[in-house]
Amino acid sequence: MRRIAVINQKGGVGKTTTTVNLGAALAMRGKTVLLLDIDPQANLSVHLNVDIFHLDMSMYQVLIGHCMLRQAMQPTSTKGLFVVPSNIDLSGAELELVSAVGRETILREALDGIRDQEIPIVGGEPDERRKIDFVIIDCPPSLGLLTVNALCAAEEVFIPVQTQFFALQGMSKLLDIIKRVRRLNTGLHVSGILPCLFDTRTRLSHDVLAEIREFFKERVFETKIRDNVRLAEAPSHGQTIFEYSKDSAGSEDYAALADEVLARAEDDRRTDDSPTPTPTEVSSRVER
Ligand code: ADP
Ligand code: MG
Repeated sequence: MRRIAVINQKGGVGKTTTTVNLGAALAMRGKTVLLLDIDPQANLSVHLNVDIFHLDMSMYQVLIGHCMLRQAMQPTSTKGLFVVPSNIDLSGAELELVSAVGRETILREALDGIRDQEIPIVGGEPDERRKIDFVIIDCPPSLGLLTVNALCAAEEVFIPVQTQFFALQGMSKLLDIIKRVRRLNTGLHVSGILPCLFDTRTRLSHDVLAEIREFFKERVFETKIRDNVRLAEAPSHGQTIFEYSKDSAGSEDYAALADEVLARAEDDRRTDDSPTPTPTEVSSRVER
């Protein structure tokens, strides 16, 4: 079970779009994928057409110990793609959990509980059941307890960055948190920096991408997600990009990303060999 946290404390960089469409693309390649919405704004859940106003069991109930992750899981319209939705209730969790023992590792323990479970596949062969191959966690735009839970539960971090000026601002803070969480979760590593909202027409996008590559080297995905209006429209239809506009640039880019993610799994050494820049390296050279 590969566990990926999609993180950037900046909003609007493409975290949710990436979680939905990478997850869908992996599921369409035959993988069983579970998406976790840990943002109280619930954009991921809405994008996947979940009725967030009528949820008996959601991420909030999981985190406060009122239900198991398995009980809060829902199938989506994409075969093999599941979601644990959230809603505004989750905004209370951070405060409620402040004094809970082991509060940083609640999500990790919840995930351990489903590692070996077999999930019935909706729309599959009769009685088809599969174990989960990928868990992808869509984080809120902050570095609070919810994000720390994701970092303790994951082994890989994907950081979407918008290829605009200030792309790397705040990055040293994020890398610092990741470094600190490694005390609780030693295997955690940044395995993919994903350029998002890439505007092929502007010089700035190309320059910023060059700068990102200079720092993060081969950790930056070859795939870049172009700015594509279809990606912005799909959420309001409650559809993935593959359902909403399968011939769009957005579909093409997220399909390419899924292929790259699968290829990297077979070539683990590449991610381990290249060191992530330290927080000070980034802050001294980028946040000038
Ligand atoms: P985050 O989760 O980081 O806050 P989102 O994935 O919600 O970011 O993206 C922010 C907004 O930009 C959303 O309205 C989304 O539909 C839109 N968007 C995301 N990626 C793209 C893209 N590649 N091209 C066009 N619009 C995009
Ligand atoms: Mg989001």
